[in-house]
Amino acid sequence: MDKQPTQFNDRAALIAHVKTLSPGLGDETASAIEGGRAAGEALLAAIDPAAYGSSRNFLDGAVTRLSPYIRHGIVTLNEVRNRALEMGDAKLIEKFIQELGWRDFWQRIYAQNPDWIWHDIEAYKTGFSADDYADTLPDDITDGETDSAAMNHFITELKTSGYLHNHARMYLAAYIVHWRRVKWQCGARFFLTHLLDGDPASNNLSFQWVASTFANKPYFFNLDNLQKFAAMQAPCDFHHNKCFAGSYDDLALRLFPHMEGA
Ligand SMILES: Cc1cc2nc3c(=O)[nH]c(=O)nc-3n(C[C@H](O)[C@H](O)[C@H](O)COP(=O)(O)OP(=O)(O)OC[C@H]3O[C@@H](n4cnc5c(N)ncnc54)[C@H](O)[C@@H]3O)c2cc1C
Repeated sequence: MDKQPTQFNDRAALIAHVKTLSPGLGDETASAIEGGRAAGEALLAAIDPAAYGSSRNFLDGAVTRLSPYIRHGIVTLNEVRNRALEMGDAKLIEKFIQELGWRDFWQRIYAQNPDWIWHDIEAYKTGFSADDYADTLPDDITDGETDSAAMNHFITELKTSGYLHNHARMYLAAYIVHWRRVKWQCGARFFLTHLLDGDPASNNLSFQWVASTFANKPYFFNLDNLQKFAAMQAPCDFHHNKCFAGSYDDLALRLFPHMEGA
């Protein structure tokens, strides 16, 4: 194999070189997320763990966007934890430290149970069996042309930037598995194809949690929730997101008609 250059005059030259290595890429533009230690350190310096605690569920909340750097070992989880601990009141940064803990937790589960990554850990608790879920992702999902403008926004963001906020990942995963009744494995594969932080443990075990094959109940949401947390970032109006309208009880009946207690 040819030795690859490691020095480039600028980012455009690097991107042009990568394109020559992947002729199938077409005209897609590169993600705006820059790699490398300097970019990771800049994000680390800017973390605000106290604001994170109260705003992290909002798509415009004080999240760090550090996941691609952590995933590829450019910034370590310990560094992030230590930086947060330096920043003050332990009570205020508790939520932030807990979320870092989730990453560590998923890694440990994966190390102990490598076969849980692609296989259902338990049965679905939705009233459906695995056979009721489709084996392929419909084209309108991969193309970002579904009947939900918010989901289309998230799909486009996933494909163009390689990053999604945690809540957007939960919404899109739930839409794929519960509204479209597609096996979680298809959604997980789609995410891993595009995420710059794509990680089998965090991604696939989170998908199993949403699906309910690694949880006591399925995760789903309604339009009120979407509008509360995502309206600043994505088109969440009723007319372009009708499938999510209704109370949680109504939606449970629609999505899971055979589920006990729905
Ligand atoms: C369906 C689904 C798929 C996901 N796929 C991935 C994936 O492939 N790779 C990945 O790194 N994370 C994944 N996550 C977890 C989480 O969404 C991302 O780590 C987080 O959104 C990354 O953005 P951030 O760096 O701004 O996170 P922040 O909210 O700023 O959190 C800081 C760091 O803590 C860790 N973290 C925070 N929340 C979680 C969480 N719920 N689970 C695990 N780690 C967490 C991450 O390392 C993150 O970088 C997934 C979650 C869901 C629901």
